[in-house]
Amino acid sequence: MAIQVPKGTKDILPSEIYKWQYVEKIINDVCRTYNFKQIRTPVFEYTELFQRGVGDSTDIVQKEMYTFNDKGGRSITLRPEGTAGVVRSFIENGMSSLPMPVKLFYFITCYRYEKAQKGRYREHNQFGIELFGASGYTADMEAISLAVEIFYRLGILDKLKLNINSIGCPKCRPAFMIKFKEYMESKKDDLCETCIERLENNPLRILDCKSPVCNILTKGAPVMIDFLCEECDSHFEGLKSLFKDNGIDFAIDTGIVRGQDYYTRAVYEFVFDEWQTQNTVCGGGRYDGLVELCGGSPTPATGFGMGIERLILCMEDCNVLFPPASSVDVYIVNESKECESEIVKTIFALRKAGKIAEYDLVERNSKNQMRYANKIGARFTTVINKDELDKGICSLKDMNSGEVKEIKISEIAKYC
Ligand code: ATP
Ligand code: MG
Repeated sequence: MAIQVPKGTKDILPSEIYKWQYVEKIINDVCRTYNFKQIRTPVFEYTELFQRGVGDSTDIVQKEMYTFNDKGGRSITLRPEGTAGVVRSFIENGMSSLPMPVKLFYFITCYRYEKAQKGRYREHNQFGIELFGASGYTADMEAISLAVEIFYRLGILDKLKLNINSIGCPKCRPAFMIKFKEYMESKKDDLCETCIERLENNPLRILDCKSPVCNILTKGAPVMIDFLCEECDSHFEGLKSLFKDNGIDFAIDTGIVRGQDYYTRAVYEFVFDEWQTQNTVCGGGRYDGLVELCGGSPTPATGFGMGIERLILCMEDCNVLFPPASSVDVYIVNESKECESEIVKTIFALRKAGKIAEYDLVERNSKNQMRYANKIGARFTTVINKDELDKGICSLKDMNSGEVKEIKISEIAKYC
């Protein structure tokens, strides 16, 4: 039996790659105007980075990481997300001595051992940004407005809901945690097993539980935004008023905590409501403590991750028209072996001129070459034989209209 692709992974085939290239092009364009610079970090890191960075009691670290010992006996993990690796690189490469803010973006493949289903894979791709060295709400606005601009250009902004929350800071969160824990203790008997454990090690994670029962149980619980200290409150208020002044629609969702432990203050999700589950296309927030936690000097930061598979699925469900993949501009039919070398020269010249040019590589006769040109949707075709080469003239056929034009072989690029 032929070997199959591992569960939860999939091939991105040539027949759909144009969608990815389109999305990546728009994202690159937007990042350029926002002056974010691309960073590429390794696919694997030492396991400890994620344990410390993402948080030991998160689902990601507890259940989802692909961790193994390499041949040197070191514990290695395939990255489950982008932020921890970028923070490590920021510290390791002394980026904190650069003029602030440092604005970075990345395209990464992530690995999570999850229950494979629509919109949830074991290998998925993310676009993400991280903005270091700015603590004010304008930096959060910078990140969120960049996502908004991407969604706008991709034609799905009005189909997505932006939900925001503030989860406070180490100063104001403890008071909330006491009240929240007290409340959840009273619901203990009905919580799922994992949440009973969470109640002890990391109660906030209960808000991130995917079980509908636990979800309902959190509904009457105290909410963090009622406990914000003055700084957190004015940060949140400032962000909301910038949204209002700039026509960014949002709703408050006091249940958002996000799946990583490192978040502080503003957190948010862009959600495609038409889906019941796996409906978060983009999620992020501020993580002012993470750089220090990973061994750097205290540096405020904010960022998000956007799932490209979910983004494309959402665009498909919204019937967004992707610009079609470019097809072959011109196919040159070779009528005889002796023309081969001249045809190759002509093909190379056409390609240098930016045309998508093709000719026979599998020794079809000229009739079958023509059929093949038709099949691959070549826009123009021309048949070249010895006679034509001697005169330097060929007949270029427009495959849409059927019109034929006599032109110089050296000028094919001008006409196709
Ligand atoms: P979810 O709540 O759906 O599990 P998450 O909180 O784990 O998401 P993040 O870690 O914030 O997600 O990742 C950022 C984005 O990456 C998500 O909003 C989503 O679009 C995408 N994403 C996360 N996990 C997967 C996955 N297993 N398969 C496909 N896309 C994913
Ligand atoms: Mg998850």
